[in-house]
Amino acid sequence: MSIRLLAPDVAALIAAGEVIGRPADAVKELVENAIDAIFARPGTGLPLGRVQVEVREGGALLIRVTDDGCGIAGDELALAVQRHATSKIESARDLAAVGTLGFRGEALASIAQVAHLNVVSKRADEPAGSFIALAGGAITSQGHRAWGGGTSVSVRNLFFNVPARRQFLRGAASETAYVAHLICQYALCYPEIQFTLETEGRVAFRAPGSGRVEDAIAAVYGVDALQQMAAVIPAEVALGEDAPGIAVSGYAGQPSLSHANRSHISLFVNRRWVQNRALVFAVVEAYHDLLPPGRHPVAVLNLTLPPGEVDVNVHPTKAEVRFARERAAFGQVQRAVRGALAASVPVRELAARPAPVTAFDSLEEQQELSFADPTHTAFSPGQAVAPEPASVGGRRLPLLRVIGQVGSAFVVAEGPSGLYLIDQHRAHERVLYDRLAREGRNNAVDRQLLLEPLPLELTPRQTALVESKLAALAQWGLQLEPFGERTYLLRAMPAFLKGSDPKATVLEIVDELAEEKAAGDWQERALISLACHGAVKAGQPLALEEMRQLIVQLEQSPLPQTCPHGAPTMVHLSQAQLEKEFLRR
Ligand code: ADP
Ligand code: MG
Repeated sequence: MSIRLLAPDVAALIAAGEVIGRPADAVKELVENAIDAIFARPGTGLPLGRVQVEVREGGALLIRVTDDGCGIAGDELALAVQRHATSKIESARDLAAVGTLGFRGEALASIAQVAHLNVVSKRADEPAGSFIALAGGAITSQGHRAWGGGTSVSVRNLFFNVPARRQFLRGAASETAYVAHLICQYALCYPEIQFTLETEGRVAFRAPGSGRVEDAIAAVYGVDALQQMAAVIPAEVALGEDAPGIAVSGYAGQPSLSHANRSHISLFVNRRWVQNRALVFAVVEAYHDLLPPGRHPVAVLNLTLPPGEVDVNVHPTKAEVRFARERAAFGQVQRAVRGALAASVPVRELAARPAPVTAFDSLEEQQELSFADPTHTAFSPGQAVAPEPASVGGRRLPLLRVIGQVGSAFVVAEGPSGLYLIDQHRAHERVLYDRLAREGRNNAVDRQLLLEPLPLELTPRQTALVESKLAALAQWGLQLEPFGERTYLLRAMPAFLKGSDPKATVLEIVDELAEEKAAGDWQERALISLACHGAVKAGQPLALEEMRQLIVQLEQSPLPQTCPHGAPTMVHLSQAQLEKEFLRR
C-alpha cells in the first residue's frame, strides 16, 4: 500500500480514541469542563458550585454532566464542539502556566465524534438557553430552548460507531466503578464543589461542597476512616537556589487504615488529579516501616508548586504530569507524610477482648511475671540516644513505668490510662533502626573491630552487587574488604551486633541487595535486617533496669508504636477495659 493522507473523519476518529478510551474518560473531561466553568464565573459562597453526574449502563448508554457554571453562549455552541476550539488559552505562552483543567479544546469534539452528544447551556446574560445536538461528529440539530443556567452535556450510545472499542468495555459494573472512583477523586480535590453521582437512577455518592477537605474525605471513606488520618501540614520548602517553594497539604492515613492496593492514594498537583507512579511510590515509601508488605496506605495529598515547575501537557488525558525537579517534589511528599504520621500514630488498642483469667492459672505462670534483679546485665542497651531534632519532637508515648516481664518476651508497663504490653524484640528493633539510620547519616556508628577478620565467600552475582555498596555499608559500621576474587573480609561491624552471628547478618544483607523487586530501597531493607539481628530476642530474660532503658529509648523514637517491619510494638489494655473485665462498671 502506498502512503496516503487519511480522510478527515478517519483521522478524527483516531484522535478521539486518544482522549476517550472508556466511559470514565468522557466523564473526566466533562467534569473538568464543569469545574472550569464554576471557577470561571463570580461566586464566593459555599458550595461554590454544583456538579451532577449521571451514568447508565456504566456510561455506555448515557453520561450526563450538569453544572451551574458560567455557561456557553448560544452563538458559541457550534464552536465549542469543534476540535482545537477553547476559551482557556490563546497562545503557546499560556501553555506554560495553565490555570484551568482543560486547555486543548479536544474533549467535546472527541466525544461528539464517537457518540450522540447533546449540549444545553445558558450564560447569565442571555435571555434564553441554547442547545446543539451531534451524532458521530456531525451537527443534527441546533436552536433555543428554555434553560435555567449553567450547562448540561449528555452523551448517549458511546462508541456506537466504534464497535471494536465498545466490545472492549469491561461491563457496566466495572465501568461504573471507574466512574465512581473518578468522581471521588474530584470531590477530594475540590471540597468547595458539591458533587452528586447517580448510577442507574440512584444516588451513589454525594459530597457536600462545604469547602472542608475533611468533609470530602468523610463522604468518600467514612467518618471512621477520617478519624484515623493525620493532617499533613503544608510546610513550604525551597526547591533550590532562588526557586520558589513546593508545599504539600492534605491527609495521610495512619497504618491502621491500610488496604491491599494503591487505589486509596489520591494525588493532586496544583489541584489537578494525577496518576504518577513515582509520586505514589514516594507516598508508599513514607510508610515502608509502618505497614507490612502488600498493604498500602490511604492518602489525600495536594502538591502546590509554581506552574513553571510542572508540565501538564505531556499526556493525552492529562493524567500524567512532568516535574522539573522530580526528586525535590518526591522528597517533600515523603517528608510531609512522615512528619504527619510521626506526630499522630496512636498506640494500638487491644482490639480483641483479653482472655479471661480463670483463677490463677498456675504458679509457674505467675512467676513468669518476674521482678528481675536490677544488677543483672545480660543485655546492654547501648549508649544513651540523643533525642531527634525538635521538628519531630513532642511525646509519642505516655510515660510508662516498667512493672516486669512476661514469658521472657514482653515488658509489662503501667501508664496513665492502663496497662501496656511491649514486645521486647520489636521495640528494640525500632530503637536500633532509628539509631542506625541517624548515626549512619552522620557517620557516627559505633563500630567494633573483629579480632580476626571473617572471610565471606560470595557468588559472582553477589560480588557484583556488593562491590558498589562498600561505602554505604561502611557508614553503618560494616567494614568489608575485597580479598581475592569472590571473597570479602569482614573487618568491623556495628557494636550493637556484638553477640549475634556476623556472618549470617552480612549474608542476609547481601541477599537484600539481590532482591531487586522487593519494596523499599536496599538501604532501608539492609537497615531493617541489621536492626533485627542486633535486637534482643524473645525468650531472653531482662532485668528491670534493662527494660527501663529500652522503654526510655523507645520513647525517643519518632515512631515508637511500630517496629521497622510495620508490626505493632505494643498493645494497650485501658483502665476502662480492665474495670469492665472485673465487672466494676
Ligand atoms: P477545553 O476544556 O480543553 O477548552 P473542551 O472541548 O472540553 O476543551 O471544551 C471546549 C470549550 O467549550 C471550552 O473551552 C469552554 O469554553 C466550553 N465549555 C465546555 N464545557 C463547558 C461547561 N460545562 N461550561 C461552560 N463552558 C464549557
Ligand atoms: Mg475540557
